[in-house]
Amino acid sequence: MLPPPPMRGVFRADRRARAAYAEGAGIFRMLPAAVCVPIGREDVAAIVHWAAAHRVSLVPRGAGSAMGGGNVGEGVILDLTGLPPRLEIDPARRIARTSASVPLAELDREAGKAGLRLPPDPSSSAWATAGGAVATNAAGARSVRYGSVRRWVQSVEMVTADGETTELRRGVRGTASALRRFEEEAAPLIRSASEEISARFPRTRKNSSGYALDAYLASGDPLDLVIGSEGTLGVVTEVEWRLDPVPPCRGGLRIALESLDSLTAAVESLLRFDPSAVELLDRTFLELVGEGGAEAVLLVEVERETPEEVKAAVAAAAKAVRHLAAAVDTGLTPDATQRLWAIRHAASPILAGLPEERRSLQVIEDACVPVDRMSEYVRAVRERASARSVPVVIFGHAGDGHVHVNLLPRVTAEGWEADISLLLEEVTDEVVRLGGTPSGEHGDGRLRAGLLQRVYGGEIMSLFQRVKRAFDPLGILNPGIILPTGEPPLSHLKVGAGAIALPDDIAQELRRIEQQAGYGRNRLELA
Ligand SMILES: Cc1cc2nc3c(=O)[nH]c(=O)nc-3n(C[C@H](O)[C@H](O)[C@H](O)COP(=O)(O)OP(=O)(O)OC[C@H]3O[C@@H](n4cnc5c(N)ncnc54)[C@H](O)[C@@H]3O)c2cc1C
Repeated sequence: MLPPPPMRGVFRADRRARAAYAEGAGIFRMLPAAVCVPIGREDVAAIVHWAAAHRVSLVPRGAGSAMGGGNVGEGVILDLTGLPPRLEIDPARRIARTSASVPLAELDREAGKAGLRLPPDPSSSAWATAGGAVATNAAGARSVRYGSVRRWVQSVEMVTADGETTELRRGVRGTASALRRFEEEAAPLIRSASEEISARFPRTRKNSSGYALDAYLASGDPLDLVIGSEGTLGVVTEVEWRLDPVPPCRGGLRIALESLDSLTAAVESLLRFDPSAVELLDRTFLELVGEGGAEAVLLVEVERETPEEVKAAVAAAAKAVRHLAAAVDTGLTPDATQRLWAIRHAASPILAGLPEERRSLQVIEDACVPVDRMSEYVRAVRERASARSVPVVIFGHAGDGHVHVNLLPRVTAEGWEADISLLLEEVTDEVVRLGGTPSGEHGDGRLRAGLLQRVYGGEIMSLFQRVKRAFDPLGILNPGIILPTGEPPLSHLKVGAGAIALPDDIAQELRRIEQQAGYGRNRLELA
């Protein structure tokens, strides 16, 4: 029996509290050993010391909305939503400082009062925490113009696996023991492997898979390794963000394509007009929401300084794609754009209302390929899934070549787990063949950890191990995430005969959170 850590906040090791944290978004269910909800950075440090002393692992966690299973595990959940909600905006410097617990939407609300915003705009910002967004290198529809959150993180305060609190700031050499170990044991190896890194890292517009050795090589900042490290290199307690002015004028387009072959050409044409979003709704999505007829719809947003600039950009973009499209609709104001885009939100309630035997599962859900291979990728997913009789819903961030997929297997059918497992294997092979990454923005979690060897190869994988060992020699921070343990990717499913039992009322509440996207909910209330 574990003694409680010497901390302020909540420590619970009873079965109901553990059950309340057994799931995040995504497909996994795992019962943690206990739950800690610290209320300050000193408490986080105390928990890390305690975990090291007792050789128990920690699973850092924000809102639990990430898809790959980085927010669940058999170690002790470290729920960071209890950290005091610091949120300070410096409009003159266009900087914000938030604690890890602050949801991105709150940051945007405060920044908006000064005409500023955090541009990438993840659709989960209502609940996704600053810590979770940094840890997954989150992105959003506007990443096509503004990149992933990496570009906007100036520094983080982090508790290392040694229990030291340190700041990692761009351009500043850190002094914490973990950083010293990294500089001595891992950094020289990374630098001398620059050719292999350049050859093996996917040339995609986004990548949240593996440790970002390429970004680290470009900047020299260990901060770039921590961004996207999914709680495996340190526990983020505060984040300093760069902000950007909100452009005053916005318009949009809705483009229906008759052929998947036109997708790549249409997107490449649109990118020339510097759009702030180019979103894809595939035929599978359109059929689900009862808007069938096109092979794909592209939703485009353009932001400019004046209405005249919006008008010119929308007209030019429409002209550039008209020969590829069955229909082009345009809007010149934010309201008109919103009307064109309304269809984008139509799938969520339908997916949430599916009967229990037909579940929407995020298994091959986050791949990003070079934009010129996107049509091939969408076609491959459709064909592979159809060959295994698994319906799919495909949508995503077309401007970045980044495609989300929801599988809709019948979970009462004989052998459905084997089917989706094979599908994951086959589609991953396609991603690698097309020069893509298995994760554009959600991170690897435990879902994709076992796939990375075939994406990056042995030399890069051993560099990932070196990075991990330098930051976390005892392996207490989120084991099994990014670096594989050898377990099959679809172990610990929340659905099906193998799912561990939870108290009925808690299982129902977790299901409700999933169906209603209620990830902002305090999980201890369930217990
Ligand atoms: C409906 C829906 C829509 C979504 N849309 C988007 C989208 O548009 N773009 C996008 O990028 N993602 C999206 N996501 C995924 C998810 O919201 C993001 O990955 C988000 O950044 C996760 O934040 P969180 O607070 O929920 O983190 P969690 O899920 O709790 O944790 C995610 C990972 O980060 C680690 N972590 C969390 N906090 C910390 C910390 N303080 N220090 C160190 N490690 C930490 C965890 O260990 C875990 O590995 C969506 C999810 C859902 C359910």
